[in-house]
Amino acid sequence: MSSERDKLLETIRCPACRGELSFRNDEEELFCTGCNLTFPIRDGIPRLLLPSLRDALLAGATAVGMDAQQVETALSFGFEWHRFPEMYREWEQQFLDYMRPHGSDFFKGKKVLDAGCGNGRFAHYAAKYGAEVWAIDLGPAVEVAKRNTESAGVVNVVQADLHSPPFALESFDFIYSIGVLHHLPDPEAAFRSLLRFLKPGGEVQIYLYWKPERQPIKALLLTAVTGVRQLTTRLPHRMVHALSYPFAVGAFAFFVWPYRILRTVPALRDVAEKMPMKQYAGFPFRVCVNDQLDRFSAPIENRYTRADVEKWLKAAGLESPLVGENFGWIGTGRKAVEIG
Ligand SMILES: [Zn+2]
Repeated sequence: MSSERDKLLETIRCPACRGELSFRNDEEELFCTGCNLTFPIRDGIPRLLLPSLRDALLAGATAVGMDAQQVETALSFGFEWHRFPEMYREWEQQFLDYMRPHGSDFFKGKKVLDAGCGNGRFAHYAAKYGAEVWAIDLGPAVEVAKRNTESAGVVNVVQADLHSPPFALESFDFIYSIGVLHHLPDPEAAFRSLLRFLKPGGEVQIYLYWKPERQPIKALLLTAVTGVRQLTTRLPHRMVHALSYPFAVGAFAFFVWPYRILRTVPALRDVAEKMPMKQYAGFPFRVCVNDQLDRFSAPIENRYTRADVEKWLKAAGLESPLVGENFGWIGTGRKAVEIG
């Protein structure tokens, strides 16, 4: 058996009983001797899903209850990343912005979990900077992530639910979840569950949407978006995809282009920096279309204040908790090393 296979078996666990897995059926399946469940490996990706999620996501069965909400979210993002699979060089700076205060040298030699990898763009850069990355996502986005990370370095893409990551406890030096938790039914519980997979002394990094405070224009815009979402989250993904183009044109016409002009006038720079959606000034138009699809199709969207995020970090008992800003909140902290 190659060392790569050994490393896989060393790291992954059964999502149901956390037992060790072994290969079966010409290495096309993983088998848990603890609870007798089998998990397929498809397109080189282990699909470590519990039976109800596996049937809904891989065999088109109808999920019920909380699974249904999760499956709808996973399929919505799967649709998005299959439509927008391409990598942009602008994402390297975006990755570094999301990882602050950690720099590129932080990743070397670390075992890292990307919880909710989407199209794999962050896993790509974490691996490029020298980490051994384990990237999980619940939906069909894993196929795009696999392609986008193939040339980056060591990235293992696994289809899995981040509520129950299929790994040995305390496996990772660093866990990040960028733009994912706020789309889950119980974001704080999911965050807390991720911490179990962090080694003592390991660090966690999350990015969450912010709730506008004392920013009347952004608050008004958000109210409008929330209203429109009531309709668009019920539409077929294809239709929301088509609507994303006019939404993105609107965003550029009302905010991005005015921002580009206003910021060149010294007297108006302060006004410019308060413009909503100014972040798209640094990206190709297609990235904005992609984000509109994201905003208008993701079934759940939770938003937080800085105090909310501070409370999460404190309640989880993290050391050196820090909340930074990057068009949303970036929460960072270290898991305590127990002395005893
Ligand atoms: Zn098991």
